[in-house]
Amino acid sequence: MDSNILVIGSGISGLTYAIKMAEQDPNLRIIIISKNNLLESNTKYAQGGIAVVSNFEKDSFDKHVKDTLIAGAGVCNKEVVEFVVKEGHERLKELIEWGAHFDTQSSGLHLTQEGGHSEKRIVHHKDKTGLEIQKSLIKKIKTFGNISLLENHTLVDLITDHHSGSDYKRCYGAYVISNLKQEIIKISAQITVLSTGGAGQLFSHTTNPKNATGDGLGAAYRAKVFMEGLPFVQFHPTALFPKIKGNTFLISEAVRGEGGILRTQSGKRFMTEYHEKAELAPRDIVARAIAEIVNQSGDAFVYLDCQAISEKDFIHQFPTIKENCQKIGVDPPKDPIPVIPAAHYFCGGISVNQVGETKLKGLYAIGECSYTGLHGANRLASNSLLESLVFSHRAAIDSVEQLKGPLPPQDFYEHLPEWEEEHFISNEKISAIGKVKKQLQKLMTSKVGIFKTSQGLIEAELELKQIFMETQEIYRQNKLTLGICELRNMVSVAYLMIKQSQDLKYNIGVFYNQDYVE
Ligand SMILES: Cc1cc2nc3c(=O)[nH]c(=O)nc-3n(C[C@H](O)[C@H](O)[C@H](O)COP(=O)(O)OP(=O)(O)OC[C@H]3O[C@@H](n4cnc5c(N)ncnc54)[C@H](O)[C@@H]3O)c2cc1C
Repeated sequence: MDSNILVIGSGISGLTYAIKMAEQDPNLRIIIISKNNLLESNTKYAQGGIAVVSNFEKDSFDKHVKDTLIAGAGVCNKEVVEFVVKEGHERLKELIEWGAHFDTQSSGLHLTQEGGHSEKRIVHHKDKTGLEIQKSLIKKIKTFGNISLLENHTLVDLITDHHSGSDYKRCYGAYVISNLKQEIIKISAQITVLSTGGAGQLFSHTTNPKNATGDGLGAAYRAKVFMEGLPFVQFHPTALFPKIKGNTFLISEAVRGEGGILRTQSGKRFMTEYHEKAELAPRDIVARAIAEIVNQSGDAFVYLDCQAISEKDFIHQFPTIKENCQKIGVDPPKDPIPVIPAAHYFCGGISVNQVGETKLKGLYAIGECSYTGLHGANRLASNSLLESLVFSHRAAIDSVEQLKGPLPPQDFYEHLPEWEEEHFISNEKISAIGKVKKQLQKLMTSKVGIFKTSQGLIEAELELKQIFMETQEIYRQNKLTLGICELRNMVSVAYLMIKQSQDLKYNIGVFYNQDYVE
């Protein structure tokens, strides 16, 4: 056995879980693998903050529960919502003890308000909360002697009975590829944790980094683990246009909260025609309105006019946004910011129980790759970092119990087979990966994106079959690479998303099929 615990992914959920396990038992051998460097993750880019009830004079757990249930459109698991909201307070305190800094004011933590929240309860670090959290967790993780960090290593497949020929009905670790040497290694583990984040890269525009390709979901699917809620993809209405170095940068909702107005390229304010709350309508409504304007006008983007915000306030509250806009020659609040909607958050994912364990024993899924029932059909802003903290804690407590046994014997792990490389070794098809990936992103954006139709979903399934076949050919003919692993996972997640979207026969939350509009 190479490890007691294998954690796949180094965002807020994977790192928090690993810290908790290392603290509970210094004798555990813990390995964390991360596709790139430890920092690169959705967590790093989180701007707004964490939704946690802190001001008990005005706010209450009940109010936060109610807001979450309303956003989730009746599909949330109420029991989950209640414990996540209540436990958030303790988890935030721990995060602060581990070294994360949040903005304060004379009465305590400085709290902001985001769409769907009835009170100010977002704890934040300027407009770079995620970066602050991620850096403090990485600093903390490096203090443990029993945690090994494998950066630039990518999950290929989970090890299950299918590989071992046994009948323990468990997960036994994973096959992992080293991105640099392109060697596949086997890492056996008594407990395996998927904390691989979202899959925003399925779409042409996403606020997620390049590594958000749904790998955990793809591997779980191949291990026959159940998935839920995949049609519920939250699109953020305002992402910067054009991309910077291939990445779409998020323009926080807080800019609209401070007075930013959405306008067509000819200067007309349009959100007042779509919702009484205009620019502060729920995210899905704003995203659909922008998409409609863009589709009708043929323009590539709309403008976010920030002139209502003073230069001083903008610099103070949105330093990162200003810096990134300046990279494309736009200087807010003086200049309007060109924006378009972008895939932002996967409300669905791998089904887990209330301690983060999947149906496959020994396999946990935490954070954005999981479906816990907290978000239902639409996530309430800033509830995802909260979910990651609460479920990492719960999964760690449960893992400690599970390690007490019964478990397969030590020599069983030692004899798990190595990865079988069946492929022909030729790199002829390798250059096709980028092209197929773009084709997939285009397909998902046009037919499985903000607007869907029943016919569009049928066409998407047919076109995806072609993409699947091309991907299979690339997979069979080449030596396995990081790029092939990612493409394979993206195709699997796309397939599941299309199938689950076809099964959904009414509009709910962020899911929107134009055929169901009365
Ligand atoms: C721009 C932006 C702003 C956001 N703002 C907020 C906010 O204000 N508040 C909020 O609550 N949420 C916000 N979110 C959502 C939130 O950041 C994420 O849901 C959360 O950080 C997910 O954490 P995670 O640990 O599950 O995954 P991530 O932080 O995405 O980490 C995933 C990890 O898995 C690794 N990985 C992926 N695939 C593999 C593989 N095959 N092998 C090995 N490792 C792999 C990655 O390298 C990474 O280390 C935002 C998201 C974005 C993109």
